[in-house]
This record gives sequence, C-alpha cells and structure tokens, in this order.
Amino acid sequence: MKLLKYFTVLLFSISLFNCQSQKEETSTMDQNGEFKYQTEQFADLAILRYKVPDFEELTLKEKELLYYLSQAALSGRDIFYDQNYKHNLKIRRTLEAIVNSYSGDRSDEDFQKFMVYTKRVWFSNGIHHHYSTDKILPEFSSEYFTHLISNSDKNLLPLDKEETVETLITKLTPIIFDPDADAKRINLNPDDDLIVTSANNYYEGVTQKEAEEFYNRMIIKSDPTPIWYGLNSKLVKENGVIKEKVWKVGGMYSAAIEKIVYWLEKAVTVAENDLQKKTLEKLIEYYKTGDLRKFDEYNILWVQDTLSGIDAVNGFIEVYGDPLGRKGAYESVVSMKDLDATKRIDAIGKQAQWFEDNSPIHPEYKKKNVVGISAKVITVLTEAGDASPSTPIGINLPNTNWIRQQHGSKSVSLGNIIESYDKAASEGVIQEFAFDEEEIRLAKEYGPLAGKLNTDLHEVIGHASGQIKPGVAAPKQTLKNYASASEETRADLVALYYIMDQKMIDIGVMPTLDAAKAEYNAYLRNGLMLQLRRIQPGNNIEQAHMRNRQAISKWVYEKGKADKIIEKKVNDGKTFFVINDHPKLRSLFGVLLREIQRITSEGDYEAAKNFIETYGVKADQDLLKEVHKRHEKLNIAPYKGFINPKLIPVYENNMIVDVKIEYPDDFTTQMLEYAKEYSFLPNYN
Ligand code: ZN
Repeated sequence: MKLLKYFTVLLFSISLFNCQSQKEETSTMDQNGEFKYQTEQFADLAILRYKVPDFEELTLKEKELLYYLSQAALSGRDIFYDQNYKHNLKIRRTLEAIVNSYSGDRSDEDFQKFMVYTKRVWFSNGIHHHYSTDKILPEFSSEYFTHLISNSDKNLLPLDKEETVETLITKLTPIIFDPDADAKRINLNPDDDLIVTSANNYYEGVTQKEAEEFYNRMIIKSDPTPIWYGLNSKLVKENGVIKEKVWKVGGMYSAAIEKIVYWLEKAVTVAENDLQKKTLEKLIEYYKTGDLRKFDEYNILWVQDTLSGIDAVNGFIEVYGDPLGRKGAYESVVSMKDLDATKRIDAIGKQAQWFEDNSPIHPEYKKKNVVGISAKVITVLTEAGDASPSTPIGINLPNTNWIRQQHGSKSVSLGNIIESYDKAASEGVIQEFAFDEEEIRLAKEYGPLAGKLNTDLHEVIGHASGQIKPGVAAPKQTLKNYASASEETRADLVALYYIMDQKMIDIGVMPTLDAAKAEYNAYLRNGLMLQLRRIQPGNNIEQAHMRNRQAISKWVYEKGKADKIIEKKVNDGKTFFVINDHPKLRSLFGVLLREIQRITSEGDYEAAKNFIETYGVKADQDLLKEVHKRHEKLNIAPYKGFINPKLIPVYENNMIVDVKIEYPDDFTTQMLEYAKEYSFLPNYN
C-alpha cells in the first residue's frame, strides 16, 4: 500500500490547468543561500527536490550499495511507461527528439505550450494524467506538432521499421490529439468492460470476462498461501489463445530487466549482511524465472530484514493501475534509515516513563510501566517507476495478505520527502497567515524541527500514554463515534504539553524553547484557520484529525480569552490569532489533557461528545471563506513531484573509491538524461 499526500488534491479547482508555465529562476540555492525545494511550477504541477542529509557520513561500501540499487531502480523506468499505455514510449521519444533538436523558434508561446505538455507526460509517465488518469490534451495544435517533428533531427526520431517521418506523424496525431481515443488509463465505471475501456497496457485483445475467467481457473481456493496470479505479466490473446507474457529475463521487458539484474548482482557483492544478501539474491532469482513463488519467498526475507541500514523496494508492486487489481506496476524506492530521526525517536522513547510520571493527568490513569511506540522513518535516495516523480509519503508492504499475517510487514514514512513537501508549501503560507516578523522568523528557523518533534511525541509518547480505569471498556466501545477524535486529541495534547518542557532540551533533541513557540504558533494557525481551506463552503468538519485540531485550538482560545493568552486581531481585513503568552498556553494544554484523559479512562461518552461537538465540528463560515480567498491567491500547485538526487561514482583503476551526491535543479535536464541513460526497451514490447 502507498500513502499519498492526497488531500492537497481536493483543494484546488481544475482551472489551474490553464495556468501558464511559471518557471522561476532555477539556481540550486535561493537568495538567502538556502536549499531550494521547489524549482518550477506548470499546469497543475510543482517540481520539488529533496535532500539526503546523512549521505556523507556513510561508508564507501554503503554508498556503493546505494549507487547500485539506484541504478537498478532507474533501469526499469521504461517499463512503467509501457505498462501505462502501449504508445507511451514512442510518444515520449518523439517529444524528446523535438526537445533535443527542434531548430525553430523556442521563445514563442506555442513552444512553451509544447514544453508544458512534454513535462506533463514525463510527470505522468505517459499521456494520461497521473492522478485522474484522463488523457492530457495538448494546448497546441496538431499542425504545430507536425511542424515541430518536420523541423527536428530525423535520426533522433523513434522510427520503427519502414516508418517515415510522415507515417510517424499520421500515426501519433490521433493518439495525442483525439480526446476520444483511449481517453482514460483506468476506467472504474462498473457499467463498462473495465479491461476493454481502460487504455493501460496490462491486457490486450481480451475482455474483462475472459481475463476474470482466466485467473479464476488458476486460483486454488484451499491454498493457505495463495499466489498473486497475474502480478508480473501482460494477458494477451494470440491466434485465439489467451496467454500471459511474463515480465522476466527472456520474457517481456527482458532488456530492462536484464539491466536491473545486472545492478542487483553488483549490490549483492556489497550487501550489509547475510540476510540482505539472500534477499537480493532471491529477487534476482525471481526476475530471472518470473516465478511468483520466488517473489513470495523474497518478500518473506525482505520483511525479516529489519537490521540493514539500507533498503530498497524493487519490483512489480502496486496494483492500482489495473482495474482488476492483479497487475503490478514497476517501481523502486531506494532508501536508508533516517539517522537523525532514529536518534531523536530513540531519545524520546527512552524517556517514556519520565513523561508518564510527570504528566498532568490524574495519577490513577497513569501507566506504571510505559513503553514508547517505535516509529520508522526512512531517507529516500532514488525513486523510479510508479514512485516517481509523484511519490508516496508512506509505504506499507508487502501487499500479500498471508505474508503480512504470518511474517509481518514494513511500514515507513519517507522523512526527507515529507520535509521537502513541508518546506516548499509553507513559505508563502507562513508569509500570508503569520501575524508578524517574529512569528515568521520562528516558523522559518524552528518550524520543520518542531513539526517533527511534535509528530514524534504524538506517536511515540502520546498514543502510548495513559490507562483505562479497571472495569471500563475500550474507548471504541465507550466513546463510539468520538473515540478516534478523542484519541487524537489526547495524543496531540501530550505532544503540545511536552514540547515546551525543559526536558526536550536536556535530552538533546531541541536547541531552545523557541522551537516550542514555533510549534504552538503553527498549531493554532492551522487549527483555527488554515485547515479550513480543506472544507468546502457550507460544510462542517468531518475528519477526525481536523476535528481534534480545531477542538483543541478553540478550547484554549475560549478558556484563555479573559487573560488574552490568545488574541484575535484583524489587520487590513485579514484575521490573525496571536499567542501573547506561550507558557500560560502550555498550562491550558495541560488542563485539557487531564480532562481528555479522564474522559478516555472513564469512557465518558457525553463529555467526549460535548467537547468535540462544541469545539471541533462547526466551521466558522466567514473565516472559512476568508481562508479560501487568501490561500487561493498563493497559487499553490495541487500535485507535486520530485527531481531525484544524482549519485556519481568516482573510479580509480576500475574500482569505485567514492560516490558523490549532487542535487540537480532542472526537471527537463533530468528527464532527458534518464531517457539517454536508461532507455532499454523498444518502442513496442
Ligand atoms: Zn495519532
């Protein structure tokens, strides 16, 4: 499973599609000498970069392993284009030939539109939108397309046997410009034949009924460890016979898979330990044989390997691209343990008992022996296929249920990707919604760290803390529909209460209490205002996290009103909530925590209902409209994708003696480079 940053999608209207390309200056650093997270924005997309903070600290062997796994990842890149639509590789190569060699005017509006289209195709790994899966229609004419091809280097065009420039144009024009031809990559309308009406390339010449029957015949109902039939093949009908074309060495996509295997074999030579070595060898065996039992065996080894610092997802993994949920899209995510996060989480987790003992909750509801919950964060090095440029922010694998039940699964959040999202998104938002320069300064200096500490405290300490009164049932039974909002309230309050504790400085995870101030400011900005942008006018708040954030924020605002702990100010018609006294606010968080813990421990349904309904549900409609207006003005792209860092090996006497990391800052350059380095498949497979 992948966890997407989906909520951003809901907020923005389709009108952004018509935006002109807004390429900003693309220097690696911005004017303040800081790492530039967002490099450009076009259509409904923004391109970001992400940092790999601990790379220099790795040993040569570890760097080498990351390099080989990254090469393996990128080697399969073409596969995903072809899986998405059978004409994708040919179209992409035509677009790239034009970008590389078009001899006409590149400064006019038409060419800009052509570049936006090309970048959208790269972003979506094909001509269908990565999220809606609708066909992307160019904003330039088919005549202009003909003109571009005719004025480009013929030798660079992907001409198949006996094909001329003219026949290439004739062939591609309807595919690209006709809105009705292969209009949707994945059709999920149950009234249609899902296979025939989906443009993806997982089935050819077969109907939905034929495909379903084909696989139903294979399934053995009594098998306690069932194989995921169809995961690594295309189903076709040839001469009236339905059969699978398996993706393996010697099968379909062989040229790319051979390269993946080549680099995985290199990775084996520098594996961190025996188990990791065995795991990689099993993956190679699977790619060589196409045997899905081997893939199960690989996954079992993979979930067992929790000690390695470096890890990779590599294979045909997620099945969202197939309306029948059988076919795995190629993807790879190469990562290492987030050392900083691990240190931070360990330091906080070790203090779980101290936090419990010093908590403002009633002694009766404290745990005598509390153990922090471990949270896992990874740092991404390279992403490819289904995971790139658009990426998940969390991954939970393997997908096979019986393996999850019998052997476990790995669940991670992608730390440096999340950080990049936050940094890129926050700048304009903070400028707009923070009250003064001091609030902006605190947010810039401590915002990201404070956000992470808050999450750590919430996950590691918050959810682990407190106990139910003996004889009282679990909150799910007692608090019913308010259970999850109450639980999130409780965990948030533990985090908010402790982030402003000297203990955080003493255990070395926070440099100053100013970081806690930054977090309080951010929490209330979001809880009282900013999150309203996710609610459509006229609606109230449904989602548990949003309810609990508003409930906490509104409660402390109301209770602190008399003392002006938090003050509402209106400037130029804009509303702000300003915290005048952070330590007093902390005390209020403590008071509320004590009450919410009591509600939870005693299963006080009426009190939970009263709290959430009074403070968490109702959206202030005037404020909501204001927030929408102010936020829309910022023109933030709903979808984001990432440029990968580049790993560059340094050779001496044919031996790798070092691996350097660079952070390219131009999406087009990286896409052209990848096309040159990793184009292993023919136009049609
Ligand atoms: Zn939570």
